Amino acid sequence: MGRFDTERKELIELLRSKGITDENVLTAMMKVERHLFVDQMFINRAYEDNALPIGSEQTISQPYTVAFMTQALRPKKEMKVLEIGTGSGYQAAVLATIGCRVFTIERHLSLLNSARKLFDVQQLRVAAKGGDGTVGWSEHAPYDAIIVTAGAPSIPDALVNQLNEGGRLAIPVGNKEAQQLIVGTKISGKLQTEVIDGFKFVPLIGKNGWN
Ligand code: SAM
Repeated sequence: MGRFDTERKELIELLRSKGITDENVLTAMMKVERHLFVDQMFINRAYEDNALPIGSEQTISQPYTVAFMTQALRPKKEMKVLEIGTGSGYQAAVLATIGCRVFTIERHLSLLNSARKLFDVQQLRVAAKGGDGTVGWSEHAPYDAIIVTAGAPSIPDALVNQLNEGGRLAIPVGNKEAQQLIVGTKISGKLQTEVIDGFKFVPLIGKNGWN
């Protein structure tokens, strides 16, 4: 048994009890060692269902949020997924462990570099770059799914444009204090959305985000 295996198992059971049902997501979150993605100062709190600071005034998202948003993308092997807001790299690692081809963008280069090291050591199929993710990553578009892990003032058109027909988008939208999670499918070129309350994110900063 590895370090924290028991704690991780308990977290997965908690996610199940909170309504996460996608076995691909639960299995991947059982495999990915969240304690490697948190600031080592908080290693003993890695399997609490809480966001934790990761430096640069940013956070690793709460496990329930990661599970909910990942499930909302309906992830499958070989799906091409764009993530805006690499942060610790944990969300990207969960998607890559499911078997998705992951592209991720982070504006804080120190966070990007730490996440890249983790992707390399764990041989995860993740392409990561620094920059403003609100404009997407056109070179690799279109994507089967796009996940934005920071709160936006509105849905950037650039991201909808880079989504495949039938593709899924998960993005928190609102003001800087409170957001709703918007989950959408691109149908006949337009996004059909549903809105879910009760999530809180750091702000998405960039050309099509906050100043
Ligand atoms: N997915 C991350 C994880 O698993 O740790 C969560 C990271 S945190 C909640 C959101 C991240 O979005 C922060 O690291 C922040 O720097 C980043 N961010 C904010 N605006 C951005 C932008 N325009 N482009 C890329 N990253 C951005």
